[in-house]
Amino acid sequence: MSRIRMMKQDIQCQSWKQGQRVKSKPKHNSMTGKYSMSSSRTSYLVESFSLNSEERIVSRTEKGRKPDPSYKSCIKVISDLSSIVKETGKKVKDVDLETLTLHFGNYVQAVNMLLSRIYSSPKRVEQLGKGLAEYTGRAYTLLRREKDLCYEHNEDIKELVFERLHRNVLEQTGRMLLADWTRRRLFITALKVLNESPEDTLALLRRKRIPPFLIRKVRDFCESTKNNGSGYHYTMGVLRQLRLTIDRHILDTLDIKIGWRARQRKKVTLLLKDNSALYDRLVDMVTKLVKQWVQKGYPFTAPQLRNHSLDFSASTENSIGQGYWFTQDSERENEILLHLKIPPGIDGKRHDDSPFKERTLTFRFLDWLPSAAISDRRKAENAKENGEIHQDESLTFRAAKFEDMHNQLMNTIQFQHTAHRLTKMKQRKGTDPEEIVRLQEQVKQSKVSRRSAPPRLLLRGHRVTLQIPFLSPNGSVSSEVFGEREYTAKAGADRGLRAPVALSVEKEDETFEDLLITVGHLVKKRERIKEFVSALISEVTLKKNNWDKKRSGQSYPTQILRQDRQIAASWRKIRRLDLEIARQVASSTVWFCEEHRVKKLFFEDLRSFQAHAGSRDLAYNLSSNLWGKIIDTVRYMRESLSHSKYSVWTVNPRYTSQTCHQCGERGIRVQDETSTTERKGGEYFYCEKCEEHFHADINAARNIIHVQDSSAAPGRTKDSCPSLSTLQ
Ligand SMILES: [Zn+2]
Repeated sequence: MSRIRMMKQDIQCQSWKQGQRVKSKPKHNSMTGKYSMSSSRTSYLVESFSLNSEERIVSRTEKGRKPDPSYKSCIKVISDLSSIVKETGKKVKDVDLETLTLHFGNYVQAVNMLLSRIYSSPKRVEQLGKGLAEYTGRAYTLLRREKDLCYEHNEDIKELVFERLHRNVLEQTGRMLLADWTRRRLFITALKVLNESPEDTLALLRRKRIPPFLIRKVRDFCESTKNNGSGYHYTMGVLRQLRLTIDRHILDTLDIKIGWRARQRKKVTLLLKDNSALYDRLVDMVTKLVKQWVQKGYPFTAPQLRNHSLDFSASTENSIGQGYWFTQDSERENEILLHLKIPPGIDGKRHDDSPFKERTLTFRFLDWLPSAAISDRRKAENAKENGEIHQDESLTFRAAKFEDMHNQLMNTIQFQHTAHRLTKMKQRKGTDPEEIVRLQEQVKQSKVSRRSAPPRLLLRGHRVTLQIPFLSPNGSVSSEVFGEREYTAKAGADRGLRAPVALSVEKEDETFEDLLITVGHLVKKRERIKEFVSALISEVTLKKNNWDKKRSGQSYPTQILRQDRQIAASWRKIRRLDLEIARQVASSTVWFCEEHRVKKLFFEDLRSFQAHAGSRDLAYNLSSNLWGKIIDTVRYMRESLSHSKYSVWTVNPRYTSQTCHQCGERGIRVQDETSTTERKGGEYFYCEKCEEHFHADINAARNIIHVQDSSAAPGRTKDSCPSLSTLQ
């Protein structure tokens, strides 16, 4: 649990790449969280470690962990310890926080400086963006050829960062430029499409949802977008942004003031109805606006790095030059020191273990992986005694995985140190050549077995987090735990109406095993927080309005500001719960599949993702973001269980909820297992031909298994009758 708590929520997903020459493609991945898919070849599991000031005693209050009994007899030690804790109350001291903030500040400033240089000329953005999209190497090798971006010729850059860090700056700049360029391409394509077809523009503005045909049209029109789930969603985001701008333009021109987005939308739809008095005028206005954008360009804003993060992913070799250095604390078990190299102009502090001398900022963190493994093994023992075989299996596997990750981390540290020793040895005269050969061999070995990527640092508020991406164990762990196994079954997963996921496994003898995955307690908790937040928001809005009326222009009083912070904190909690829901759902899915030896698993894809009809009345509905995350998590977990990456598929779910999985006829939704009268959104599915009832979500899940099999199956008919898409 503590691991989940430490996870960082709203990070932009970036990929960690291993190896120097990985094809850099445009990425539209905006999913949040801890699993990240980089190229299709490797996926990493990102784990977080929270950083502490070096002097701090890291608290290890896990469940079941008692204070060290040796302290019990010594009251002085206890009071000393508690005074340290009381003194700060924060994991990171203010001094360290300040140094780190300056360090990050320099980095962010450098990135933004380079971005502003590039963005001062639209032509250059276009040329460099295109270059990056086609370039199959690290972004920094391309960007450092530019004279005003490179290190050698720019004194102002030298003042901000040291040379090696500048690589990270270039890499970050390159990523942001490429993402923005791809987005611009989509915008320009969307505007072209809308300019050529006023009907499409009208459809976009009139309908509540962004029309799927339009999304597909724009996506297929744009060269730089991929025809996949995320490309679809990326395009949808662009169209949504465009619609927002048009809506605002219309309302501003008519001088209508509406604050709430949903109401703005309603108003515009109303104004554009066929019988509206303003219809002609508005259509003319929008057409002109779109035309003007196509001819003169859309008013894009230049991207800027805003969050305080430092990404070391441009570093692949393990020299001290890359700016971070790990050492193990010899006195405290499983604690690791992280030394950061501080850029010029900022005061660091000397540390005996650090190679950066006076330019060092040191943090410590607890490597919680071994203790997590021990606790899982203990739980597995208990489960075994109680005869819970599957529980035992999953816990044993997780323990093995934690141990594997711990080894990866230790390997990284060893790699750093051996490589460093080797360099020093080579510089010195009269060293034993055999010793050098021995070290070279060691370096080679740790390099080969290296399976974790360079870390990333995040600063949020006064919390500092280190994220380390670990490569999936890909079978080596699972074969050790489980031995050889045969997998033959197929499974389908449907986004359920009442449970987040309905899962059905079809075995070789065509019998089914079903599971409705519920996370009721989490959903309830989420609902409670949401109720609390919405009450708080309306209260604060009212207060703010009153304040603005009386004392316009003055800043809000502390009470309102405190409530604002409370709202933000509650949203963070909700997001965290969402991630926990996704994690639990994914884990149940994977282990149920493992239990029934599933070889292939099919999910509803994201392409036509919309909220279920009537879902507003239900307690919980998975967002597309979470659904994507569940799929990614399942994929990662299955890969680490040594399944092929082609063992998880996404399919078009069209008609799967209306068709009987036995005979393929269309059926109806009914209230319960006895009813035969149609009820929209009913929990059960009734097929007249088979005269049978099924749970509606299970029926859909079983259909999903066979979407790929034949063109007669549901979901494959998409091209013949696209207009039916709204039926599902
Ligand atoms: Zn039937």
